[in-house]
Amino acid sequence: MALPEGSERASAASDRRTFLTRSLGVAAGVTGTVVTAAAFAAPASATSTGSNRIQSTQDAWRFCTKCYTLYYWGYPTDGVCPAGGAHSAQGFNFILPYDVPETPNQQRNWRFCTKCFSMYFWGYPTDGVCPAGGAHTAQGFNFCLPHDISETSTRQANWRFCTKCFVMFYYGYPTNGRCAAGNAHSAQGYNFVLSHY
Ligand SMILES: [Zn+2]
Ligand SMILES: [Zn+2]
Ligand SMILES: [Zn+2]
Repeated sequence: MALPEGSERASAASDRRTFLTRSLGVAAGVTGTVVTAAAFAAPASATSTGSNRIQSTQDAWRFCTKCYTLYYWGYPTDGVCPAGGAHSAQGFNFILPYDVPETPNQQRNWRFCTKCFSMYFWGYPTDGVCPAGGAHTAQGFNFCLPHDISETSTRQANWRFCTKCFVMFYYGYPTNGRCAAGNAHSAQGYNFVLSHY
């Protein structure tokens, strides 16, 4: 997962730019929209160009088919899944905004957990329950996620906050996956609508 030579801007832009290497295999099969081409064609050494096109968003967020949690798929490993082993990605590649102001339809304080790789809500005094043990541990961007807007062909509704473990999970199936706090996740609050390729 080494970055290309001369990528001095890469670390400043985002440590997680390393996901570009891994995402290439998936993007290659995707329809060649302008956005996709810009996001993946730019080498790490030219992040100034890439960032202008995809400013303040990060992709490689995926649905885990085992626990239903939204997790970051941009590393060589897939974190820790409450259903056992690592998370297992399926379906859409989600593109999530970060470091933008909160609005009536966009909630801040969603963070990456460095222990289990889940997206979890960091806006409470405590940090939920992590499948890797203890509470989640936040790192990196502060995501500001859209909610209670209409679903379209490029954004998916039914993503919810779990009151038991604090992760974002997919609530669109008859069952609610697997929760690190025991049994299935339990939805509360906003109906998040996430953009995807
Ligand atoms: Zn999982
Ligand atoms: Zn965690
Ligand atoms: Zn849960």
